[in-house]
Amino acid sequence: MSAKKKTIKKKKNAKRTEFDPALLDRLLEEAITVRERAYAPFSNYRVGAAIATKSGAIFVGCNVENSTYGATICAERGAIMQMIAAGEREPVAAAVVTSNGGAPCGICRQVLAEFASDMPIVLANFDEETGHVVMLADLLPLAFK
Ligand SMILES: [Zn+2]
Repeated sequence: MSAKKKTIKKKKNAKRTEFDPALLDRLLEEAITVRERAYAPFSNYRVGAAIATKSGAIFVGCNVENSTYGATICAERGAIMQMIAAGEREPVAAAVVTSNGGAPCGICRQVLAEFASDMPIVLANFDEETGHVVMLADLLPLAFK
């Protein structure tokens, strides 16, 4: 089974529709691809994330677990680190792909909010090929600044 062949259907957030569906589709493809490279021997919970910036660049990350558990890095933060290392600082949209449509953890929400007060994030369930769009500001209201 080739994971790259899967398509994820997503429902738009009815409140806000100012995001580009084609961009979100591209981010989903990138997140699905990078998820295959996740290092998750302890949880077996593979996560792929892709972040688009204002310049049009896309940065990806996958979770990298560690035997100490505490040293584990999430996919979302991995993508943000790539973005910063490339000299970019303005994320405009993101996609996160997991086996169950899970949302970013609290630490990742705060790290994302460091660089974007709000942006659409596609949360995709790879196994069921479903997903939906949420807004970062809804995931982390009253973010620490
Ligand atoms: Zn996280």
